[in-house]
Amino acid sequence: MQPARLLLVVPCYNEEAIIRQTYETLIDYYYHIKRQGVVAENSQICFVDDGSSDKTWAMIQEICTQNVNVVGITLSRNFGHQQAILAGLEKHVDDFDCFITIDADLQDDIHAITAMIEKHHKGAMIVYGVRNDRSADAWFKRITAEGFYVLMQKMGVPVIFNHADFRLIDQRVLKELNNFREANIFLRGIVPLIGFESEKVYYSRLAREAGETKYPLNKMLLFAWNGITSFSTFPMRVVSYFGIINFLIAMLIVAYILFSFILGDAIPGWTSTLLPLMFFNGFNMMAIGLIGEYIGKIYQEVKSRPRYIIEKTLNN
Ligand code: UDP
Ligand code: MG
Repeated sequence: MQPARLLLVVPCYNEEAIIRQTYETLIDYYYHIKRQGVVAENSQICFVDDGSSDKTWAMIQEICTQNVNVVGITLSRNFGHQQAILAGLEKHVDDFDCFITIDADLQDDIHAITAMIEKHHKGAMIVYGVRNDRSADAWFKRITAEGFYVLMQKMGVPVIFNHADFRLIDQRVLKELNNFREANIFLRGIVPLIGFESEKVYYSRLAREAGETKYPLNKMLLFAWNGITSFSTFPMRVVSYFGIINFLIAMLIVAYILFSFILGDAIPGWTSTLLPLMFFNGFNMMAIGLIGEYIGKIYQEVKSRPRYIIEKTLNN
């Protein structure tokens, strides 16, 4: 079988502490698999600078002048991890047979790349990298991340447990992915929706080699919330169920109040007045807020703004 033309897409946001090392590790591995005939001659590595404010882009430029196998893309500002991946992928739709996305911090084991390509050779159109060992992550990250996958699955989002954005997709899959035009794209949920034959490759997640996580807790929560609300209306349904239960309880309270009134011992107490008032008001606010969330999503999608803006491309 012909070796595949592969593009490795690496999103980078303020990764000056590690990008050089990432480049060296990836390029060594790339030469290695090229010699073995796993990937074709004209395969490439694409670093996408997601509007970094440090020296990341300068370093990518330097790498590009040293090696024509590296493509550099810089976005006009910080658009976010998912958008940076898309920028790298969509720009090269027609140029490669398959695409692997991998984080810039070497937390994903690059040795899984060969296994992914082998599965692709055997016919898999999508190969998910799945972490089977998270011992390198701090306990808090591990618990929140794994809880996130369970929650997503329970809400009907088709995510793959412990799979992040380390995956191989075939050119055909990428073409289909381009038809998913939502602004708020959540690749982990969208890619499984595309279908086709898929496989998994298991690997141990390593510790970040250098630099800091670009996903502090607040960004991680936002990411999770976006993932859930752009895929599932389950939270809205929960609120509706609550609404129904509340309504029934309210009716019982109303009956009780009326009954007391008829019996003539209707001395209104603070508790019976304030308690339901507070409770239902609070609940209404919550429901309105949740509906607002979804309307906000519609608002964003209706505007159909570009998902990213490429400022410059090198070696393309
Ligand atoms: N990243 C990005 N744009 C952002 C945030 C992150 O391109 O706005 C990149 C980052 O450089 C890294 C990948 O996304 O290559 C994953 O981020 P990180 O490793 O910080 O996340 P974690 O592994 O801690 O969840
Ligand atoms: Mg990381």
